[in-house]
Amino acid sequence: MALLREAELEGMSPEERAAAEKVVDLDAEEIECPACGHRFASGPERCPDCGLRLG
Ligand SMILES: [Zn+2]
Repeated sequence: MALLREAELEGMSPEERAAAEKVVDLDAEEIECPACGHRFASGPERCPDCGLRLG
């Protein structure tokens, strides 16, 4: 999976890489909503602050 990830990042601009690195990690204990920046414990599939779907 790590190799696939590297391949995906290969053709990206620095800006795109930065955005890709910010992709929400649903396995993390704490999630930061990419839309509003609200941080909350993983569990809900939606940001409790703005309602963005994360799943
Ligand atoms: Zn949010």
